[in-house]
Amino acid sequence: MIWIRDLFFKSPAVTGIIAFLLFLGFGIFLSIKEYQIVRLEEDNRVIQVGEIVEDKVQDVLNTANSAVNILAYLVSTDKVEDNFEEIGKSIIDNIPIIDQIQFLDSGVIIANYPLAGNEIVIGYDILADSTRNQEAILAIESKRLFFAGPFALRQGGEAIVARLPIYEEGEFIGFAAALIYWEKFKREIFEDFNNLNPEFTIDFLKIYPNSNDEISLLNSDFSDANGPVERFLIEEGNWIIKLQLNQSKAFDSIIFLSIGRLFTSFLFSFLLYKFAQQPYTLKKKITETTEELQLSNQRFQLATKANSQIIWDWDLVTNTTIRSENFEKLLGYKQTNESSHNEFWKSLIHPDDLEKVEKNLQKTLSGKKNKWSQEFRVRKSNGQTIYILDRGLVIRNNEGKAIRLIGSTQDISERKKIEDEIVSQKQRFSNVIEGTNAGTWEWNVQTGETIFNETWAEIIGYSLKELEPISIQTWQKFAHPEDFIESGKQLELHFLGKADRYEAECRMLHKDGHWVWVLDRGKVLSWTADGKPLMMFGTHVDITLKKKREEEIKTANQKLQSANEELRSFASVASHDMKEPLRMISSFLELLEMKYHSVLDEKGIQYIRFAVDGAKRLSRLTGDMMEYATIGFDPKDLKKLDLNEIIQEVLAIKQNELEEGKVKIETQKLPSVLGIKTPIKTVFINLISNAIKYQKQGNTPLVKISAENIKDLVKITVEDNGIGIEKEYFDQIFALFGRLHSKKEFGGTGLGLSVSKKIIRQHGGDIWVESELGIGSKFHFTLKKYGTAS
Ligand code: ADP
Repeated sequence: MIWIRDLFFKSPAVTGIIAFLLFLGFGIFLSIKEYQIVRLEEDNRVIQVGEIVEDKVQDVLNTANSAVNILAYLVSTDKVEDNFEEIGKSIIDNIPIIDQIQFLDSGVIIANYPLAGNEIVIGYDILADSTRNQEAILAIESKRLFFAGPFALRQGGEAIVARLPIYEEGEFIGFAAALIYWEKFKREIFEDFNNLNPEFTIDFLKIYPNSNDEISLLNSDFSDANGPVERFLIEEGNWIIKLQLNQSKAFDSIIFLSIGRLFTSFLFSFLLYKFAQQPYTLKKKITETTEELQLSNQRFQLATKANSQIIWDWDLVTNTTIRSENFEKLLGYKQTNESSHNEFWKSLIHPDDLEKVEKNLQKTLSGKKNKWSQEFRVRKSNGQTIYILDRGLVIRNNEGKAIRLIGSTQDISERKKIEDEIVSQKQRFSNVIEGTNAGTWEWNVQTGETIFNETWAEIIGYSLKELEPISIQTWQKFAHPEDFIESGKQLELHFLGKADRYEAECRMLHKDGHWVWVLDRGKVLSWTADGKPLMMFGTHVDITLKKKREEEIKTANQKLQSANEELRSFASVASHDMKEPLRMISSFLELLEMKYHSVLDEKGIQYIRFAVDGAKRLSRLTGDMMEYATIGFDPKDLKKLDLNEIIQEVLAIKQNELEEGKVKIETQKLPSVLGIKTPIKTVFINLISNAIKYQKQGNTPLVKISAENIKDLVKITVEDNGIGIEKEYFDQIFALFGRLHSKKEFGGTGLGLSVSKKIIRQHGGDIWVESELGIGSKFHFTLKKYGTAS
């Protein structure tokens, strides 16, 4: 039995299938039984109806039987011959089913009633007629009444004939026969049948003695009938009544029930399946739930491990707390009996926070709310104080008394630090605003809502209150119309993303009626979902003073420029004019020396030479000064300069000097720069000349020219192996007339490097020196690389 139960619950599907098969089998059995019963009923009905018909036939036959028996009796008592007419009449009158009676001597019809109209049969020998004699012979052989026919009568019409063989002292002597017209017989037996029994089909068959063939006498059609069929043999005439029920209801009657049973079987077995499944589902559910619970427990443990929160459960009745492992990790205290007690926890709370915490806790526990949340400071085991966020859920008993508090503790020191930082940042920010005296504005570009700070209004001499209602129109109202248009353009560029921020200098109308210059700067910091600018923030800084200064500087510059211009033309004219008398002085001194050479003593000649030399130097100096003074710079003249070409030109100019001094020049391939050709050429001439000039005696000068790209600049270096310069003089040599040597040692005016510096500075570059005494010098200068934005 146990295995059945096991099977039942273990395999609900098998249980369901077995139940289904059992229910179905039982259902099929019932249906078959029902079918058989209905079929039996139908059989019985056919038999009943058939028997009624048979009885009817039998009645007719019995009546015919009695007629021929009477006749036979009369024959045996010899009363027939004379009175046949009378006897016949009386028989036919009394037995209306009989139509004619005959008496046959052996097989020959010798008497027939009624005779009139039937005379033809008299003398007809039925035994001699091979087509008719079969049944007559049958009657003789069986020595009893036998019905023949129906067949066609010689006298016309169709009839069945009852023939009783008559024997005298054991010798066959003839037949007593009675004729019943076939039409009448049919009418008598079958006329009403179809009306009374429309659900049946009936036929009357004849078995022919020779062939045993059954011939339908009613020509009934059974092809549509499917009900039970019965056959009733009427031996006296070798006839069969065949009766069939047209439509059997047996199958129809069970079909609906069977479908119902099939459905019920399915339903019951499904219910059984479900029922059998219950313990299994329950077990599965329990397993799943247990697994889920384990998982969730695991997750909880991992989660409590993974984050640094302490999860705790405080039993208010026993006043002890169970805490997660993080208690030790976060605060450094071991979990002991003592630490589980609430007094221990209280001792950790910062004294300044304790009162607040206790008050709020008391309020929460005694109140109706179930949520506890408090930020306060606690002491860690290492003495450090941290900020924590303590949160929990109060659990109450039926009377609403708090009995348990479950929650978590989180270290929020970091957040507190950030909050403090934000507060101080805010303070700093407002200090900056205050300190820079900047007006601020916040503008919702989409709605036009605008917020200004007090300084914004103060810049134009108002208070915010006076400007109310404030909107973006307030700005438009006070802005200079021209500047407002320009500011609109700048704003558009920023909105389109072409400028990182918006910046414009605008004039605003002061309350007093004068214009105040404002530097208006801002940036869109949020955009709508469809990419339109939303919130924009910015500042107004009063730059009126700066603007005034700029104006002043501009005027001063203009003045300076015209003074410079004047100075340049003065220097040019002066040096030009001075050169002429100097040339005269030196020419006449040379003439003096030539003419009075013989009268002048050594000293006199030497003095003249000194004077000539002085005049020449003064002339060179004047030339150099003029060059320095007239160096001009017009950015329009800036163009691409191929430094290689320039060097070649300089070397060509210096060719003699180079050859004389056996100077070695090493040049790299140099890049192109942006500059003005003549002054740059001058720089190279000056540097190369110096490199050759400032050499130790007997040394072969080596000059290396190289270049290096540094971002959008080119650094050019002219290096020599000359006498070098002490570090302390690195700046001095670039000053006007800055010379380190006497004219005797090295000639020069002390202007070459000043000129070079001026030229390089005008080009936006820089020039400097690196040098070591006795080893050599490197003069570097920078120029803009060609092709970069100037
Ligand atoms: P000048 O050469 O006419 O004296 P510069 O302005 O060209 O004037 O040079 C200034 C001084 O810098 C020179 O007198 C010299 O003392 C020093 N100097 C310039 N170039 C070099 C160099 N290549 N090596 C050593 N000293 C130099």
